[in-house]
Amino acid sequence: MNLAFSDEERAFADEVRSWLADNLETPPAFASLDEEVAWGRDWQAKLARDRWVGIHWPVEYGGRAATPVQVALLNMEYARARAPQPVNRVGVNNVGPTVLAFGTDDQKRRWLPSILDASELWCQLFSEPGAGSDLAALSTRATPVEGGWMVSGQKVWTSYAQWSRWGICLARTDPDAPPHRGISYLVVDMETPGVDVRPLVQLTGEAEFNEVFLDDVFVPSDQLLGGLHQGWAVASTTLSHERGTIFAFKEQVVHEVYLDELFTLAQTSGTFDDVEVADGLAQSFVDLQILRLHNWRTLSRLARGIEPGPETSWVKLAWTDMTQRLSALGVELCGAAAPLWRGAHGVAGHGKWQRQWLWSGAASIAGGTSEIQKNIVAERILGLPRG
Ligand SMILES: Cc1cc2nc3c(=O)[nH]c(=O)nc-3n(C[C@H](O)[C@H](O)[C@H](O)COP(=O)(O)OP(=O)(O)OC[C@H]3O[C@@H](n4cnc5c(N)ncnc54)[C@H](O)[C@@H]3O)c2cc1C
Repeated sequence: MNLAFSDEERAFADEVRSWLADNLETPPAFASLDEEVAWGRDWQAKLARDRWVGIHWPVEYGGRAATPVQVALLNMEYARARAPQPVNRVGVNNVGPTVLAFGTDDQKRRWLPSILDASELWCQLFSEPGAGSDLAALSTRATPVEGGWMVSGQKVWTSYAQWSRWGICLARTDPDAPPHRGISYLVVDMETPGVDVRPLVQLTGEAEFNEVFLDDVFVPSDQLLGGLHQGWAVASTTLSHERGTIFAFKEQVVHEVYLDELFTLAQTSGTFDDVEVADGLAQSFVDLQILRLHNWRTLSRLARGIEPGPETSWVKLAWTDMTQRLSALGVELCGAAAPLWRGAHGVAGHGKWQRQWLWSGAASIAGGTSEIQKNIVAERILGLPRG
């Protein structure tokens, strides 16, 4: 087995590294998420100008038709340089591949360019108060009217809705059909009358996600993606990209950088020889090696044109455990300053570890909870009977 990169792949990684060296600016300290999003849009526009966003998209739509290995290399170089992620993540990772797979030519021309340069942000209106893991239980209704539909219902946990121009929305178009049928995939203009976005404050004190109330929101018929009542198949494409494994390459390198910082923090705080700290550092090192091996396996499958399949659930579980343990260690290493927050005197990394730890709780929920991933592993990989 040859796990080395080819000369072309190494040359590609060099090109990414040198572009980042020439163009990456250190982000300022942001006073709010609003500021961070505004800065992120400029940064993504800069990336898009040189075609470094959505590189796996076809060339005619602004991509580079990059191979999975090139996408992984880009993500790894990006993380190594500590470059901020493109702000239009839902647009680039989830919406773009779905529009490419199901969109008409008009829809592709209309939406794809502004996803890449972040001139229009996107959000995902899937989860509802009564439909998360069991997404097919969704109750948002789309009633046919002249020229389109009127959509009413409530969505929740909608990341970045307050900055988004567009939302991909699952709504029931045939209430009499079984749950997985009768759902359509609509693109909602978030500026339409009847859309009410209410931010939810999370543990970190920031409001990244929202409740979204839809009250007789008109969606024109040319904003249906895929066939009428065929939304479940379209949503499966979106979710396969959300739960896909490319994110794990970036996360591996991001956390390798974090672990280096934790080694330094342990040394400077004089706790390096503490048995519990040493155990924690060793555990995180091992967790990262496991994620790395999962990533190599994924990459070798993708390079041979094989979809990763249910193994993505395994990778997500490995990532979740790794990030939650490493983040907890980060806070532990802050010692007596652990309960302090950003801005407080003497807090390591200006509160970065506290924020990271509070956020890491979401890892076992977002993109499919750990229990659901374990169900998938049990049924589809281990072949255990359904409970
Ligand atoms: C940071 C973050 C960002 C998000 N962004 C978005 C977004 O932009 N758009 C969007 O639509 N959604 C978003 N979500 C929502 C996310 O997809 C859901 O939270 C997730 O799918 C779980 O659904 P739920 O919260 O309704 O929990 P539920 O499905 O109600 O689950 C509650 C508990 O029951 C367990 N459970 C449920 N079913 C089973 C089962 N069959 N077997 C065993 N245990 C089970 C779950 O594991 C969980 O512990 C986001 C969530 C987070 C944390």
